[in-house]
Amino acid sequence: MKRAFKYRFYPTPEQAAELARTFGCVRKVYNMALSARTEAWALRQERVTYNATSAMLTAWKKTEELAYLNEVSSVPLQQALRHLQTAFTNFFAKRARYPRFKSRKKSRDSAEYTTSAFRFRNGRLTLAKMAEPLTIVWSRPLPEGAKPTTVTVSRDSTGRWFVSLLVEDPTVTPLPANGNAVGIDAGLDHLVVLSTGEKVTNPPHERADRERLARAQRNLARKARGEGANRAKARRKVARIYARITDRRRDHLHKLTTRLVRENQTLVIEDLTVRNMVKDRSPARAISDAAWSQFRGLLEYKAAWYGREVVAVDRFFPSSELCSVCGAVQEKMPLHVRVWTCACGATHDRDVNAAKNLLAAGLAVSVCGAGVRPQRRPPGGQPAMKQKALRREL
Ligand SMILES: [Zn+2]
Repeated sequence: MKRAFKYRFYPTPEQAAELARTFGCVRKVYNMALSARTEAWALRQERVTYNATSAMLTAWKKTEELAYLNEVSSVPLQQALRHLQTAFTNFFAKRARYPRFKSRKKSRDSAEYTTSAFRFRNGRLTLAKMAEPLTIVWSRPLPEGAKPTTVTVSRDSTGRWFVSLLVEDPTVTPLPANGNAVGIDAGLDHLVVLSTGEKVTNPPHERADRERLARAQRNLARKARGEGANRAKARRKVARIYARITDRRRDHLHKLTTRLVRENQTLVIEDLTVRNMVKDRSPARAISDAAWSQFRGLLEYKAAWYGREVVAVDRFFPSSELCSVCGAVQEKMPLHVRVWTCACGATHDRDVNAAKNLLAAGLAVSVCGAGVRPQRRPPGGQPAMKQKALRREL
């Protein structure tokens, strides 16, 4: 199983300069290839392939104004074209939005090196165009005898440097199968709510940190554009708080997903697509969305490691209004109603009931195939939940 190990490192001034140059070239090449592909499609309805962009890169390097592209390792530039290809593949498969340009301020600085562009010997990693190995903080050991196949160097908005090594990890083996299944729903007041009735809270200090983030963002908004030092300081503060929230959250999500995957054979989640998420771009909402896709990503790769199954079911309408005991649908369910009692006598916690419905739908999906959601039934109907293939039109 391939697995990524991420560490902080501290570059020398020369290494930092080389990497900053490389990040800039990666962005330049990505953006030029994106605009070439966009133009070809808009003007001539032509699809430009990865190979065609690769030929363009060769040509760009021969021109005078882009000769500086030759100064950095060619591998991260090729990888940028591959990433663009993936972005287009996802776009054409309707899994993602149209690729966007990378901006110096908003995009994460990152460069990817494949085996021809780095040397890994005796636990020391040296990148192309560098004389010295990187000074890496090995916060946890790489698996015995691991050989990285891909190395990604990045710098976050607070200026911290990271290196991620993709290695084959022979220590990951499937867990013994068990018969447990769980429905996992994104709660309103909780990070997730489980069909077992358990409610998992947000990471510690998150509420206070979010308030601090909101204050720092208001402060940043008040500083007029181009005001220099004060504005830069305010921006750094926002970045620092944001980084703290995401670090704590990542930690929290790692622990949660490991436990859920260990305990359950089948894990049912709601399939929130990118397109459902883009409407409301408030900072709080952005954090929740990011957390959910991160949660799903972690759950899916850990499930793959340990031989578990993740079932994503389409969002279905009456998940809160449907009684998970008798299948009756309530007429109205205002958001403030947290607990309700059905005509059949069952009393439900709103979120737990929704997670139970999710689980039932997911188990039906894993039996009869993908893209299924429960059919809506009138109150007083039969308890058996009839399934119908009916994809939500988006
Ligand atoms: Zn009922």
